[in-house]
Amino acid sequence: MQPIYFDHNATTPVAPEVLAAMLPYFSDHFGNPSSVHAAGAEVADALARARSSVARLIGARSPREIVFTSGGTESIQTALRSALALRPKARQVLSSSLEHAAVLAPLDDLGRHGFEALLVNADSEGSVEIDRILNLLDSDSSRAQIAFVSLMAVNNETGVVTDIEALAQVAAACRTSEIPFHVDAVQRAGKLPIKVADIGCDLLSISSHKIYGPKGCGALWVRPGFKLSPLLLGGPQEGDRRAGTENTAAIVGMGAAAEAAMTYLADEDARRQTKALRDHFENGLLAALPGTRVHGGRSVRVDSVSNLGFEGASGEAIVMLLSEYGLCASTGSACSSGNHGASHVLLGMGLDVERAQGAVRFSLGRTSTQTEVDRALELVPRAVNELRSLAP
Ligand code: PLP
Repeated sequence: MQPIYFDHNATTPVAPEVLAAMLPYFSDHFGNPSSVHAAGAEVADALARARSSVARLIGARSPREIVFTSGGTESIQTALRSALALRPKARQVLSSSLEHAAVLAPLDDLGRHGFEALLVNADSEGSVEIDRILNLLDSDSSRAQIAFVSLMAVNNETGVVTDIEALAQVAAACRTSEIPFHVDAVQRAGKLPIKVADIGCDLLSISSHKIYGPKGCGALWVRPGFKLSPLLLGGPQEGDRRAGTENTAAIVGMGAAAEAAMTYLADEDARRQTKALRDHFENGLLAALPGTRVHGGRSVRVDSVSNLGFEGASGEAIVMLLSEYGLCASTGSACSSGNHGASHVLLGMGLDVERAQGAVRFSLGRTSTQTEVDRALELVPRAVNELRSLAP
């Protein structure tokens, strides 16, 4: 039997139409898009179409605002580098303690080079304390010191959404002080609509493999007029903003994935179906397993994610046993040392280490089915009860 895959926040499968769009760019259309001859020009045209699709997915005014990268991590780090170059005297970076490691690890590294990361926590339901961010941006002394602000639009572990109005408030405060503001929209794109103009940020990152495109490809949206400092120097690709011959097949795939994502987002029934499956799954487990909590359950969440804490069993052990039973899920990402495998996101929400260690993230996808959910509702209680019976 095929394993049930409930780990779409880690990565999604490449959609069949995406694969079909990509394949000719490994064979017939192999030209270098920078070449002036016909073999290059046809690939350059395909990249232009993909750029336009990705631009539409996030409501960019022009495809020129899109820079293709190797993924969310590179997009984020290009954003950070650009901000530091624009504000060389500022020594602080403002973000939240719930960010992905692609943000937190470079901030940690900057800490060894004379910078300070101001990391705002979240409330117990996983919503970042936006007022604290706004307060910091409101004070003259801290404002002068802040080089960069970065916030995620949707948390990868809990699925909790930072609402667009809150992000827009941060953007407005940043604009007043000319502090570059970046939004990590890797987990929002393709799950909920997002329009850069509604936020008013300077930079926004997305990733192809979270939207049913190939891995190793992403995009950074750059506000017109914002001066980007490329991470990679060399050729004139991507409008002199990201050197290196483009990953052409992957970019074509990301364009096709963006088109498919727009179709999904416009399909109310499909989105309702995802939410109905997730809710059925979550409610089924809450009923079957006393001592189960939903992390971030009272916040607005994306429709596909359920982060659950099971008392008396470790998340890691549950995930391993479920894998044996044929269900793929994950624990949170333990990105900082010293937290004994507990998720930094859950710790940032105020959970104690033991509770955070009991968490499992289930993330459904566009192709998840009722049959899979029903089977998962047998497997998860079986795994949790088995582990609970072994606990001292
Ligand atoms: N930001 C968030 C919120 C993510 O979930 C991820 C990947 O899990 C990334 C950034 C990094 O993206 P990529 O894997 O494309 O480098």
